[in-house]
Amino acid sequence: MWAGLPKGKRETCHDIERASLLCLCMILAAVGACVRSAISSPFPSESPNSLMDQLFSRYSAHSHSSLIENLKSSGTIMSKRVADVMEKLDRALFTPQGEMPYLDSPLPIGYNATISAPHMHATCLELLENYLQQGMRALDIGSGTGYLTAAFALMVGEHGRVVGVEHIAELVNQSLENIKCSEAAPLLESGCLSFHVADGRSGWPDEAPYESIHVGAAASKVPQSLIDQLKPGGRMVIPVGNFFQDLLVIDKQLDGTLKQWTTTSVRYVPLTSRESQLASN
Ligand code: SAH
Repeated sequence: MWAGLPKGKRETCHDIERASLLCLCMILAAVGACVRSAISSPFPSESPNSLMDQLFSRYSAHSHSSLIENLKSSGTIMSKRVADVMEKLDRALFTPQGEMPYLDSPLPIGYNATISAPHMHATCLELLENYLQQGMRALDIGSGTGYLTAAFALMVGEHGRVVGVEHIAELVNQSLENIKCSEAAPLLESGCLSFHVADGRSGWPDEAPYESIHVGAAASKVPQSLIDQLKPGGRMVIPVGNFFQDLLVIDKQLDGTLKQWTTTSVRYVPLTSRESQLASN
């Protein structure tokens, strides 16, 4: 390619060629890294259990206790209260038969919904821990299997109040069955924990305001009704976005102003209408 040039120039050109090649490799590597981080967030995706999730999830285990140990040793579970509540709630009680419950991956639960990955349950519980003290109120939108709703109820205890809102009636019925087999069953019986079949985008104003609001499906924008139902001094954790989503933490200050920050990239099922969810594949 450089044959027509004098030797000195040819070497310079070879240097340029090598440098260009190196540049190209670096650009390709950078683009590759960007694409990888875009399609596989720091945590495994919340989309139904892809092969990648199953192969590369860091905390998967063969038993409930080893799953919790992995989440603790990795620093995903940090507080004793979150460790205690996750130890009490065996994920196998909440996952459909035939699935591998201790895989650190979202698993399909029917109706185009998933149970979130254990590390996401742990992350959300950690973010909300201070807002799930005994006697507090919590709202779980898109309660799905009821795993987190049950965890919230165990944390706020018999003087607290926890409401799960889910728009698929069959999932609500299944979540009631799941919880009846768990340590949270007495809280369901006493009415401290209840579920409603409704569109969670409107929240559940009857029991508002809540110290904790968790949304288990990704909203394209934060619903105003949920902000209105958050107690001053309270916290909401909500995935926001469409294909690319961020897990947002919104703190309502005592004067009613909002402070919000992003924790991590995630991929949840959308917070949408019942019809759109059932139509999507
Ligand atoms: N935290 C739950 C996540 C379930 S997946 C778990 O780990 O089991 C998200 C759930 O949100 C699905 O069950 C889906 O049916 C529900 N959902 C989506 N849009 C909703 C809406 N507008 N109102 C209520 N629930 C909704």
